[in-house]
Amino acid sequence: MSTTIEERLQPVLETAAANAAAVDRDARFPEETVTALAKEGLLGLTMPESIEGLGAGPSEFLQVIRGLAATDASAAMVYLMHTCAAQVTLAGTDGGDSPSLRGMADGSRLGTLAFSERGSRSHFWAPVSQVANGTIAATKSFVTSAAHADDLVVSTRPEGTESPIESTLYLVDAGVPGIEISGPWVGLGLRGNESSPVELKVSTADGTVLGEEGKGLDLMLGVVLPWFQLGQGGVSLGIAEGALGAAVAHVTSAQLEHLGQTLADLPTVRARIGRSQTEVDLLAGFLADLARRMAEGDPNAPVLSAKAAANETAIRVTTEAMQACGGAAMSPALPVERFFRDARAGSVMAPTTDVLYELTGRALAGMPLLG
Ligand SMILES: Cc1cc2nc3c(=O)[nH]c(=O)nc-3n(C[C@H](O)[C@H](O)[C@H](O)COP(=O)(O)OP(=O)(O)OC[C@H]3O[C@@H](n4cnc5c(N)ncnc54)[C@H](O)[C@@H]3O)c2cc1C
Repeated sequence: MSTTIEERLQPVLETAAANAAAVDRDARFPEETVTALAKEGLLGLTMPESIEGLGAGPSEFLQVIRGLAATDASAAMVYLMHTCAAQVTLAGTDGGDSPSLRGMADGSRLGTLAFSERGSRSHFWAPVSQVANGTIAATKSFVTSAAHADDLVVSTRPEGTESPIESTLYLVDAGVPGIEISGPWVGLGLRGNESSPVELKVSTADGTVLGEEGKGLDLMLGVVLPWFQLGQGGVSLGIAEGALGAAVAHVTSAQLEHLGQTLADLPTVRARIGRSQTEVDLLAGFLADLARRMAEGDPNAPVLSAKAAANETAIRVTTEAMQACGGAAMSPALPVERFFRDARAGSVMAPTTDVLYELTGRALAGMPLLG
């Protein structure tokens, strides 16, 4: 009898729920939850069955990441970066099979993306690092799961090019010489993400080119972007749902004893949770449709809008949840303030909300996306 996604996800969510508050408080990597994801086969959710993955698609991915983010958003971001790394490695590997890919599929190896650089900041499509004398030397500004990842997908410019958007993607084993975590991750939100800066001085012989040399941008935009946009949308949706669920539990139980009422008896409080649920429903429908269209290979699926819409929704809903719960929400006794902090990260993660609006505007105006 095959195991359903729900049956695999349930024990992961129980583990995440037991650890989420401590992961945030102590800013520690959500190791127990990542181990549970691996044990349930979910790190290989979207990998083909031919390499021992579960062979599922964007809709199942959305289901898992949404549920996880509603419990522990830090763990959901780790999961998102792993899935993006696995997808681009799959697309960029001849024959779609390698020991690294099988490890990412069976959960024994954790992947991540090392794109953002100090020099070009959120403009991930334009690394300023460049291969010289056979060495990749790059200052990566944020790398999720930095100390726990086994495989890094590293962007850099090929030797000799002068184009700011020509890049190559290398799959680099985190154990090779020349990789140093150069600082701690101290985050306002997503505190368990371990998104530390990383210095690389790695021989190209120690990495594997994904796809073709100089064609990194094609993989970034054609493969990573859709999975990242959908997954980041799912993280933001889960954050909004987590905050709203906690707010509803609070306002329906917190008493105004002198009136014989709960906070939910106040129309203003009800309006805040009602408006928030409406926003959540709207976003859930949008993302479900996007996932379906991605699975069908629809070239017009609204990939750019997904992350911006979801990030803004999460910011609004978590703000409403804070207000509905009053001063009680200022304390970590309620998880609302954790979701409020976690929600801020999405819109400054590349491609940032500002950049997504700019790209969408360019497309509408018939202008090249990267002008
Ligand atoms: C928790 C977390 C985890 C992360 N994990 C990873 C990871 O695993 N791998 C990875 O590669 N990166 C990762 N990042 C980095 C992320 O993707 C961004 O690169 C980073 O957040 C950008 O920060 P910055 O200070 O460089 O922003 P800046 O680029 O300095 O942006 C500052 C402001 O300028 C705006 N802006 C910038 N360019 C434009 C433009 N062209 N048009 C309009 N407005 C613009 C931005 O929207 C923003 O408001 C992570 C970031 C966070 C916060």
